[in-house]
Amino acid sequence: MDVHCDNCDAILDVTDDLFGKEIDCPGCGSRFVAVPMPDAPPAPPPAPAPVKPISRRILRSVVRVLLGIVLGLAIAVGTLYVLAEATSHKAKLEHSAEARVILGHDAAAADVETLDALLRLADETRLSSKEIERARTLRAELAVHHPAVALRFSIGPHSISYQRIY
Ligand SMILES: [Zn+2]
Repeated sequence: MDVHCDNCDAILDVTDDLFGKEIDCPGCGSRFVAVPMPDAPPAPPPAPAPVKPISRRILRSVVRVLLGIVLGLAIAVGTLYVLAEATSHKAKLEHSAEARVILGHDAAAADVETLDALLRLADETRLSSKEIERARTLRAELAVHHPAVALRFSIGPHSISYQRIY
């Protein structure tokens, strides 16, 4: 094993039985205690991380960000769709409610647009057959008073269709 002479920096190969004992340096003649040198030189500073893992880490971050964006968009679209559906449904219900109020009053209060829309949405707004009949009668009366926009209604078991007559 090697020992180091602190005086002249010589490195001496000595047998193990001399460790801990005083020896004479053959280079400079100084006396010192033989202490084994660490057999490995100090470890070099760690090499910089290879490029590949770094780019993979960046790729992973990018994928994560993209996934986040896609997820965010999906949630936004879903929310908009639900809101649009709710708005549409609400509009139908409001229209129906308005129509029911009108149907509860006299014919003069019912306007052509509302009655047409009401009859068009008769299924979706779940009008009773009595309400449909009432709307049809009112619409026919309006047609008499406003013959230019008269409509001919065809009422089937599940739908109401109409045709403009000029
Ligand atoms: Zn020496």
